[in-house]
Amino acid sequence: MTTNIAETARDYFRYASPTISRVDLEQAACRDTDLEIFFSIDEADEAKAKSICHRCPVRWECLTYALETRQRHGIWGGLNPEERTLLIRRLRQETSS
Ligand code: SF4
Repeated sequence: MTTNIAETARDYFRYASPTISRVDLEQAACRDTDLEIFFSIDEADEAKAKSICHRCPVRWECLTYALETRQRHGIWGGLNPEERTLLIRRLRQETSS
């Protein structure tokens, strides 16, 4: 059975945010994709996962979910864990200055 990030995100959005829950996660570009490439350590897999994210209409909602829930693994919203950490640092710096 294929586990899907969109399924997880859909549950989160449905219960955590009435505003975001209006987003149609049926549009998630990874909807019918095997989750493995989003959690692979292989660079080619990561690039493939990111390319799927980059054409995803719910990319920003997915990234928001990953940031809010501090996802430590995987590609979410087109960013890997290191890139998300850098983004959080940058956002903190901007809000503190
Ligand atoms: S941004 Fe990427 S991981 Fe998130 S729902 Fe879209 S395709 Fe899936």
